[in-house]
Amino acid sequence: MSIDYQSLAVKGVQALSPYQPGKPIDELARELGLNPDGIIKLASNENPLGPSPKALAAVREALDELCRYPDGNGFELKQALSARFAVKPSQITLGNGSNDVLEVITRCFADSSSEVVFSQYAFAVYPLVTQAIGAKGVSVPAKDYGHDLDAMVEAITDRTKLVFVANPNNPTGTVHGAEAIESFLDRIPARVLVVLDEAYCEYLQGEGYVDGLSLLERYPNLIVTRTFSKAWGLASLRAGYSVSSPEIANILNRVRQPFNVDTLALAAATAVLGDEEYLQRSCEVNAQGMKQLESSFGEMGLEYIPSAGNFIAVDVGERAPEINQSLLEQGVIVRPIAGYGMPRHLRVSIGLPEENARFVEALSHALGTLPETESGRGV
Ligand SMILES: *Cc1c(COP(=O)(O)O)cnc(C)c1O
Repeated sequence: MSIDYQSLAVKGVQALSPYQPGKPIDELARELGLNPDGIIKLASNENPLGPSPKALAAVREALDELCRYPDGNGFELKQALSARFAVKPSQITLGNGSNDVLEVITRCFADSSSEVVFSQYAFAVYPLVTQAIGAKGVSVPAKDYGHDLDAMVEAITDRTKLVFVANPNNPTGTVHGAEAIESFLDRIPARVLVVLDEAYCEYLQGEGYVDGLSLLERYPNLIVTRTFSKAWGLASLRAGYSVSSPEIANILNRVRQPFNVDTLALAAATAVLGDEEYLQRSCEVNAQGMKQLESSFGEMGLEYIPSAGNFIAVDVGERAPEINQSLLEQGVIVRPIAGYGMPRHLRVSIGLPEENARFVEALSHALGTLPETESGRGV
């Protein structure tokens, strides 16, 4: 007799669809028989500069230790974070990417009797981890593609255990300033934890910029998460962290895997924190590339969502799937975000100037050559 193993999975998992990552370069090369060297990937908000030389040197040096378990406490990395951001090592929880930390937080504080609040169009991992543990996800309709913080406060009930706020948000790039975030936190009951996901905070500049870490003293229910995957250029090595009260960190520490950050990731992350020049260049290249894409979209008559991150979502109309396919055939990988409920948009990560130019060229080729549908936009 055959068993339906699907039915054995816990309820939340049965209905779960997996996270859809950006297509890897080698996969596209295999699928379409393209030369991988000619493919550009602007699909996963990776740092286009390549890794920092300091991180690379640290990784090389750490290679001889691969036979040993990593430092499960991440002593050196916590010291480096602590020195850079003026927080105590006891406030830091390290993760296998911040994704890991987001999952650990959810598992520590929510169960099948809980509600977890997040925004429509917010980072896909929040609904995913919520559903996986059988909690009820409450998706609050967005306002101008961004978090409607007032409505999120309204959505809190007696069962709410967690609220996720991505600032800036992925995939929309929307951001809230200090005043809005503080007024939001003021209205959240102390028994509800707020996760402020600052995966893109390094790219923020100028007035009104919120540094979640500066709010921790005032809001003991706040957990700030950050990552080495984006501006710090270490997406492949999987290192992220949260900063919270030591009490919350202590709880997270019970559930995380004891060796969740490996030796190479620890070494690289520790080293890159000392590479200020790399961070500066990352931000400069990003700011320039953002301008480049914005002006090209303007010339093409395409609407986009102004973004505070290292990516931008552009409205290419109803033919987005065909346009994406054409881009792939031209060796350009971007991210369709229909899965986020944004079927007309493509999310493009900011690349090097020549990569951005190639994307723009491929996009205008796609827009110009594809047959128009009746309701599609004219070119
Ligand atoms: C990329 C991203 C993360 C996590 O990335 P990790 O590589 O797991 O650290 C978290 N939140 C948002 C909003 C992101 O875009």
